[in-house]
Amino acid sequence: MRLRFDKTAKEKISQHPTLIRTYERDESENLTAYFARNHPLEVEIGSGKGRFIYTKAQTHPEHDFFGFELFDSAIVKGLNKTIKQPLPNLLWVRADAQYLSRFFDQNSLQTIYLNFSDPWPKARHEKRRLTHPSFLSQYAALLNDEGHVEMKTDNHDLFFYSRDTFLSEGWTLMEESHDLHQTDRPNIMTEFEERFSKTGPIYYLKARRH
Ligand code: SAH
Repeated sequence: MRLRFDKTAKEKISQHPTLIRTYERDESENLTAYFARNHPLEVEIGSGKGRFIYTKAQTHPEHDFFGFELFDSAIVKGLNKTIKQPLPNLLWVRADAQYLSRFFDQNSLQTIYLNFSDPWPKARHEKRRLTHPSFLSQYAALLNDEGHVEMKTDNHDLFFYSRDTFLSEGWTLMEESHDLHQTDRPNIMTEFEERFSKTGPIYYLKARRH
């Protein structure tokens, strides 16, 4: 699903520094204490247009949330939601999650969400998958004792690649479904999920490192 390049996005983003932070290439900043309180911290990597993390933040005021997204044209849609109705517990972060471990202290995150991540099907692009061992070791260091990763995808191959990688990297699967919408698990639909669940099942897993 390609998003039209939005040439007004960059300017809009620059006008709302309290709602969204931007970091070029390998720039970073420690955001662990951003909300300056002791709420559990939850991060979505690749938040796209932002419906999932916005809804999470709206329904969980006792947690603090960060939506990490690479592209202005996608994250500006989320930004528009918070311009209309600001949430005190959500920050948009336009940055490359490759550098996630520079943004947070070790043992500081409660949940990392991966929703409909790019599958990068070619073997030579394996390193770009957000469940490559190099990403999983960053997540392991960032998650706290009760911390976990939750992943949803419509992509069979990415799901089983990820499942295998979690297990071979020493993670424990806490939950798994090969057809999430047939379960009674509470679920917030993402934009991609709404589209892709029309043509096949949604895979889900929840994993912890310890
Ligand atoms: N979670 C959304 C979007 C899924 S598409 C939904 O389910 O609707 C995957 C998104 O991940 C894209 O918007 C892409 O730009 C973003 N993304 C991919 N790699 C990323 C990275 N390294 N850091 C931040 N965002 C990334």
